[in-house]
This record gives sequence, C-alpha cells and structure tokens, in this order.
Amino acid sequence: MNFSELGLSKELITATERAKYESPYPIQVAAISAILQQKDLLGLAPTGSGKTAAYVLPILQRLLSKNAPTERFVPVLVIVPTRELAVQVAEVTENFSRFLPRTIKSMAVFGGVSINPQMMKLHGVEILIATPGRLIDLIGRKAVGISRIHTLVLDEADKVLNMGFREEVEHILEMLPAKRQNILFSATMDEEVEVLTKKLLKDPVKVQV
Ligand code: AMP
Repeated sequence: MNFSELGLSKELITATERAKYESPYPIQVAAISAILQQKDLLGLAPTGSGKTAAYVLPILQRLLSKNAPTERFVPVLVIVPTRELAVQVAEVTENFSRFLPRTIKSMAVFGGVSINPQMMKLHGVEILIATPGRLIDLIGRKAVGISRIHTLVLDEADKVLNMGFREEVEHILEMLPAKRQNILFSATMDEEVEVLTKKLLKDPVKVQV
C-alpha cells in the first residue's frame, strides 16, 4: 500500500515524500480512507502511531475542494490537551500544506501566553488547533466563530478529559453545528472517554493500533 492508492492528491503525496514517509502506517491506511469518505472515526492510537498525519492529510485534501473562508468562521477545528501538542500538530499541518495549489492557513492557539497576538492572526484560518480554555476565550471575544465547523477532531481525548477539560469540551460541542464530521483519537478508553465518544460520534469507523 502507498499513499497514492489512498486517494490523496499529488501535492499531498509530494509532501509525504519530502517528509520521508515511504508508505502509510496501518492507522493511516484505515483513517485516511474513512475520513475522505466523510465518516466519523474513532481511533485508539497513542503518540508515535502516526495519528497526526492520519487526520491532517485527508482533512487538507477535503479543504482543497472548498473555498477559503472569508469571515472569522473556521471550517476545521482540532481540539488538543496541551500547548506542546497544538504546536506539534500545527507544524505537521504546515509541513503538509507546502505544495498545495492554494494556501490553506492553519494556526495553533493555546493559553498561558497573551491573547492579542493570536486574535490578530486568526483571519482566514482554515484549520484551527486549540486548547479548550483559550478557544472559549477567543470565541467569547468574537475573534473566531465555530458555528460553521464541518470537521471536528478531538486529539488525545483521554488526556483532554484527564486534564479537567470536560466542561469546556461540552461547552464547545454545544456551539458546533449539528451536521459535521467528527474524529476522535485516544490512547486509552475508559468510561469517561466512552461517554464522550457516544456523545460525539455517529456510527464511527473504529481503528485500533
Ligand atoms: P504521531 O503519532 O503523529 O506523533 O507520529 C509519530 C512520528 O512518526 C512522527 O515523527 C511522524 O513524522 C512519523 N510518521 C508518521 N507517519 C509516518 C509514515 N507513514 N512513515 C514514516 N514516518 C511517519
């Protein structure tokens, strides 16, 4: 199996070659096809499994067939537990975006740093990678709107919950449109993650590594 057999565009294949990805990891084979088919996805996968590319590549591909947003409404939201993961996912996204026929802007937002510089850079962002608290802050200040999200990713869901972000996540979910694609990754599955999974995912494809 190689990346082109998964239905990715040539610019994305070029990006995987430059990243020295020779062939897709098992989670990528399963997740990329499911996400391209617009299915909800439950991925049980730890860090190191290749889960980031498993959702970033098909999401970029889907965004290419749409126009860039002209307002403050982001189409893709990735919720992560920590600043470190936010930065890491943004780097992977930028790296895979380098050869695309149009610019797809991605950005990481997280707490613990001043909010104004982040607010000023949000215009035209298509993939927003955010920690829960800072996202709610930015929405409250009308710097970003999430009511037109078509794809939601909850990455490291177990860690998001363990860090005490359950209420924030539920608040964010209430602001999202009903019709959307949902992708959830978690390294572990306990009762709390299962409750969230049931609330979030509709008839998901399940992938485990
Ligand atoms: P992740 O689990 O997304 O944090 O990825 C773990 C590491 O695996 C990262 O350093 C990626 O660059 C690398 N990686 C992901 N997919 C592949 C692949 N198909 N081939 C080679 N390396 C990969």
